[in-house]
Amino acid sequence: MLTGKNALVTGSTSGIGWGIVRALAAQGCNIMLNGFGDPAAIEAKRSRLSAESGVTVGYCSADLAHPGEIAGLIETTARELGGIDILVNNAGIQHTATVEEFPAERWDAIIAVNLSSAFHAIQHALPLMKKNGWGRIINTASVHGLVASVNKAAYVTAKHGLVGLTKVVALETAGTGITSNALCPGWVRTELVEPQIVARAEALGVDVEEGGRHMLAEKQPSRQFVTVEQLGGLVVFLCSPSADQITGAALPVDGGWTAQ
Ligand code: NAD
Repeated sequence: MLTGKNALVTGSTSGIGWGIVRALAAQGCNIMLNGFGDPAAIEAKRSRLSAESGVTVGYCSADLAHPGEIAGLIETTARELGGIDILVNNAGIQHTATVEEFPAERWDAIIAVNLSSAFHAIQHALPLMKKNGWGRIINTASVHGLVASVNKAAYVTAKHGLVGLTKVVALETAGTGITSNALCPGWVRTELVEPQIVARAEALGVDVEEGGRHMLAEKQPSRQFVTVEQLGGLVVFLCSPSADQITGAALPVDGGWTAQ
């Protein structure tokens, strides 16, 4: 379905981003990977994905905390793949502490990576999409773009901001063939969440699996983690003609978390 399209997915060396690139590549879409990790492990993933799906898969190590590197990431993607049709702003980091104890430097980093990087990437990618009269901007927000939790001031602020940015871009691109939407996942078991599960287990004096069950029971009525495959499937749907009129939406994928 997406043969000939080119996608940049930020933060795609692990977790949700990796799930999204696998789903897009399976539809014939060329991919630019981005994110941190062991260079040899990333190269192994890159070449395996390319071999398995038969698409072009590149990798750019740009650090999204630095706007200059984001401009370079967009340029590299356009040059190596031949354009950008799909931009998934997915990279994200977390830090948990009360507002009073929150280190200012972690606040700045979370706002830079989880929010400002999406603005910079969209600003550079939109002209390329407008030239083609088609584009998909998909921002990985969170349930924390819709509701709050304690100890996550920077994360909740950034994700609410990302939902706002998603809506403004949707209005400014309406009718151009470009759509802008946000994914709002509940708990997904990835490297970002694992430390929180471990901390919960330690606080309760239980094993890690029981810690995970406790976190789900508190917030996610389905009591099941969202999977990266489910999120990849939703991104593919948002790239399909059926989703041409879905724009400006913040889509919960949260087992009922935000229905409460
Ligand atoms: P993850 O830690 O597995 O992935 C994060 C990715 O971002 C990695 O590839 C990492 O290398 C990359 N990254 C981090 N800082 C970066 C930087 N400065 N520059 C470039 N890349 C950087 O975690 P994940 O859970 O897959 O998170 C992906 C997104 O999903 C995040 O935006 C996160 O907030 C969001 N999210 C996660 C959950 C969850 O429960 N896991 C729920 C809702 C939303």
